[in-house]
Amino acid sequence: MKIDKLIQSFIVPPSQRISLKQDYDPAYKADFLKKEDAQRILQEGIQQLAKYQDTLYAQNTYALLIILQAMDAAGKDSTIKHVMSGINPQGCQVFSFKVPSAEELDHDYLWRYSKALPERGRIGIFNRSYYEEVLVVRVHPEILERQQLPPEAKGKEVWNRRFEEINHFEKYLVSNGIIVLKFFLNVSKEEQKRRFLKRIDQPQKNWKFSFSDVKERGHWDDYMKAYEDVFNHTSTEWAPWYIIPADYKWFTRLAVATVISRQLQSLNLTYPTVNAEHMQELLKAKDALENEK
Ligand code: ATP
Ligand code: MG
Repeated sequence: MKIDKLIQSFIVPPSQRISLKQDYDPAYKADFLKKEDAQRILQEGIQQLAKYQDTLYAQNTYALLIILQAMDAAGKDSTIKHVMSGINPQGCQVFSFKVPSAEELDHDYLWRYSKALPERGRIGIFNRSYYEEVLVVRVHPEILERQQLPPEAKGKEVWNRRFEEINHFEKYLVSNGIIVLKFFLNVSKEEQKRRFLKRIDQPQKNWKFSFSDVKERGHWDDYMKAYEDVFNHTSTEWAPWYIIPADYKWFTRLAVATVISRQLQSLNLTYPTVNAEHMQELLKAKDALENEK
């Protein structure tokens, strides 16, 4: 199917070098998709997702960790809202990671993320993640200073070492049934500006805007460099990165929903079957209920 091929093209091939600027167009939207069709396909995808999630929950063996990384206003929040709209809230959890607290800084850098991992049977979403530890922390090295690290843990090699640690961490998760799906919502600098201006001009969007967003925008090129390095070091066979075009929100949602749904489909999940003894009990219970006085 065309859409499956399309999804494949968003994957950062493990152990190949990519250029974010040259290889990934933020304004891409497939020619064969019309916005109206996309709405319908998204709705179907959401229904599929709900079905798969039900079996994931019933089986209680695998968990799905969805990581969302992006620049401000790329659409993380609205992607979560739309893509997860059909899902049973009991089987889903969202964690948004902000500037770490004093308690969090007193621990190793993966601590707060480990604590938030989804239980088996659940879908867990990280709205920002441990990747901030090699993104915002890299763009603002003074943050690293606040992490109270021993000298040997903050030398020049700190970023490569963290990439390696993250790869090992994810390998460990995947080997233990926690599937890791990583999305970068790739918005262009121009589109970010349009969305910021909208947040300023429309009163009901004002709350979404803070002046620090504009300050971070000033570091755009540094962020892009840091992201590119992340993709070139942490897209692995066991947890590849998907770079999703994000200038058109309808396309972003459709792409993310499809990747998640295909991933769950590939697990071939089925409802647990009961053994003969349990079946006898069910029949006995049925009999009792039907003959109740
Ligand atoms: P939105 O702006 O859409 O509400 P957001 O994810 O940008 O969502 P904010 O409250 O604006 O949420 O900001 C979170 C901030 O926390 C970001 O600027 C991010 O860079 C910062 N942050 C996240 N993780 C870390 C970290 N490990 N160390 C330092 N800063 C971090
Ligand atoms: Mg923000």
